[in-house]
Amino acid sequence: MSFPVQTLLIHLACNLFTFLLSCVVLYTNWLSKDRIQTKAYSEGVLWRRLPLILLNLAILSLLVLVGLRAISGYFVLNEYPSALTLIWQVLVILFFDDLYFYFYHRLLHENKFLLAKIHSIHHKASTPFPMEYIYVHPLEWLIGSLGPFLGILALGSVNVYSFWAYIIIRNLHEADIHSGIRSLVFKYVPFVAPAEHHDLHHSKPFGNYASTFSYLDRLLGTAMKAKS
Ligand SMILES: [Zn+2]
Ligand SMILES: [Zn+2]
Repeated sequence: MSFPVQTLLIHLACNLFTFLLSCVVLYTNWLSKDRIQTKAYSEGVLWRRLPLILLNLAILSLLVLVGLRAISGYFVLNEYPSALTLIWQVLVILFFDDLYFYFYHRLLHENKFLLAKIHSIHHKASTPFPMEYIYVHPLEWLIGSLGPFLGILALGSVNVYSFWAYIIIRNLHEADIHSGIRSLVFKYVPFVAPAEHHDLHHSKPFGNYASTFSYLDRLLGTAMKAKS
């Protein structure tokens, strides 16, 4: 099996997990005592969101199958990285991805045209559920997915296992920050933004532009106060 196909299967497995988590959040009371917001979800919201979610998953599949083949020279295949290499490479990719996302996301808010025509779609979710991480305008999704490749460019080359570890961490974190449920895991990881950080951005979108880490919002004066 080629590495783009393996990569796609990892993405799809992560999305299946996120879909199942969405069903738990929307249709059971199992996690309701840990909800960040008390507002009720609108009825049938998952099914209304599904066509755009599926379109973006199709775009993602195409990007992975075609794009990764085109840049396969940047990947080290058939070789296990040391633990140190894996941690370093994942951190570098996450750092560049987050940096890119912060400025890109901030622009989508500060430019009135981009906010009205593109980013407002993602903000239909004021009380998000996990699958809404990918409920975005296809153009926003396409341009937003370039972030990790800046990290790969900075590294020069990346071991495919590091790249897969990055994908799993990024997907689980996106599911967490759109879950509407208080972070169980990520709040204990230093510098990593918990669900409360992005949930607040969805309830009142005037700050908290970073996704993976929260330091950029604090550094650049866009951090929101929990009760603002
Ligand atoms: Zn979001
Ligand atoms: Zn936003």
